[in-house]
Amino acid sequence: MVYLVNQIKPRTALKNIEPYTPGKPIWELQQELNLDKVIKLASNENPFGPSPKGVEAISSELAELNRYPDADTVALKEAIAKSLSVKKEQIIVTNGADELITLISEAFLEKEDEIIVPSPSFSEYDFGAQIMGATIVPVPLEEGFQFNVQKIVDAITEQTKLLYLCSPNNPTGTYLSKTELDQLLQAVPNNVLVVFDGAYSHYATADDYTNGIEYVRAGKPILVLQTFSKIYGLAGIRVGFGIAPQSIIQSILKVKEPFNVNSLAQAAATAAIMDAEHVEKSREGNSAGREQLYQAFQNLNLDYIKTESNFILVKFGPNAEKIYHDLLAKGVILRYGKTWGLPEYVRVSIGTEEENLYFIESLTSILVNE
Ligand SMILES: *Cc1c(COP(=O)(O)O)cnc(C)c1O
Repeated sequence: MVYLVNQIKPRTALKNIEPYTPGKPIWELQQELNLDKVIKLASNENPFGPSPKGVEAISSELAELNRYPDADTVALKEAIAKSLSVKKEQIIVTNGADELITLISEAFLEKEDEIIVPSPSFSEYDFGAQIMGATIVPVPLEEGFQFNVQKIVDAITEQTKLLYLCSPNNPTGTYLSKTELDQLLQAVPNNVLVVFDGAYSHYATADDYTNGIEYVRAGKPILVLQTFSKIYGLAGIRVGFGIAPQSIIQSILKVKEPFNVNSLAQAAATAAIMDAEHVEKSREGNSAGREQLYQAFQNLNLDYIKTESNFILVKFGPNAEKIYHDLLAKGVILRYGKTWGLPEYVRVSIGTEEENLYFIESLTSILVNE
């Protein structure tokens, strides 16, 4: 039997979707180049490992894997509510924060709607708009990748439905101050949902930083997104959550699959959010790594953007792509900036002291031989 060529047309909205480019996994580079030592500073993962309490909590769940997970993630929501002083009803737990962005898009975006994204930023916001056929309105960040509140407000139209604010922003590491967020929230009309992505909030050290949760507590129409993939070190098991006024959470729950967060993930996250020791250790290690890399970039005469996060955007210049590939050949995986329209930049995740050192030495030897 001969089949005809596939005549089944996907939705037209899918035409604009570019596949996500993840950081290269360690095993892949090891196999490709037959390297012993590979370090990955490409996906902003926690280099100090997962929360030990989270890992321990998983093992006690293993014998119950025949059961479906709790569809309502009650224990985890209680832990989050307690830890962040919000109500259980103001929380939705998802299969990574990526899923939450998709669910927000499905719950709120009509075809004629617009989303505003200070850019460059996290590509999942655009993805969510694209699957719904909505329009993306990028607002370029200013000099030094700073936010400009007035330009963001000026971009709001009758069609604006969502306004994404990633702070600290991925991939730039820059942030919105509390004063700026206050100004923005005052100016944004009530029919626009502000999505504040605080994936890296635990790493921020600036005095005037806010993680946005105080605004949810005050009843503002803002959704704060958080993840267990970064400081808690649980990227592999996929848990994220959103905090917002109850009515917003209820709309998003309508499009959520019942068993979206598996039982191991729920157990690990419930323990990890209480693991203050691991969070503190990770934060301190990150702050030390920041200084180590700043110093190295200064010594190498490379411009970089000061970060409030666990990664640094650094300018390699016109040869950035070549240097990025030379580093790969030495077993150092970074993220090349071209996907963000920044062909002269790379984003380096802050690693352990030893990883940072290996990266610095590799980079130095490449630049010396140029
Ligand atoms: C990593 C990241 C997330 C969360 O990712 P998940 O692993 O899906 O929880 C959300 N926003 C930004 C900006 C990120 O960098």
